Amino acid sequence: MSIKWFKKKTLQSIPTRTTILTPVTPQPIQTRLLTLPHPEQQKNLSQSMTNVNIGEVFHAWYDSYNVPIESRSYFRNTIVVELNDKIPYPAGTWEAAGIRHLQVRPEWCNAGVLAHEQAHCSYALLTEVEKLLFETAYNRVQLDPYIVLLHGVNTYMNQTDRLGRHVEGHAELYRYIGLEKLPETLKQFYPKTL
Ligand SMILES: [Zn+2]
Repeated sequence: MSIKWFKKKTLQSIPTRTTILTPVTPQPIQTRLLTLPHPEQQKNLSQSMTNVNIGEVFHAWYDSYNVPIESRSYFRNTIVVELNDKIPYPAGTWEAAGIRHLQVRPEWCNAGVLAHEQAHCSYALLTEVEKLLFETAYNRVQLDPYIVLLHGVNTYMNQTDRLGRHVEGHAELYRYIGLEKLPETLKQFYPKTL
């Protein structure tokens, strides 16, 4: 066949498509179809100083947040972790004499609260420069659908430290969004949890 005939034939055989353009109203980011990968876990008043198995809670955290096997000993053994029903808040973590401490009230001892506190321990491993870089990266991802969704139900993440750094935002992102849905640019700021 001649090239001319072939071209003509081929063009003729291409089915034509009718596109009906309907006016589209711009929609806001569709966060309503999303759900937080790690929803809120409420306190459990049946948990007490004597019946909470903190080792089991650690394993629940390891499994649900995919904590790397090589980091588990650091979080479980290098950090001094204790139940304490005298503290006036669900949980807390701090450093004293070079040793990291984590305390949690028994009714709040669950994988999500542990994730939040261990995110603080991870943050503590960042250098001061890395903490500043986290602020820039954090501000740049505020329109991420999961972060928009979390902001809609969570105000605690807006609390900053005395230097205005988003330490609670850092911890809440890990707790509720987890590393699987965390924006890629933030993952470098969660040492040992990756
Ligand atoms: Zn916190």
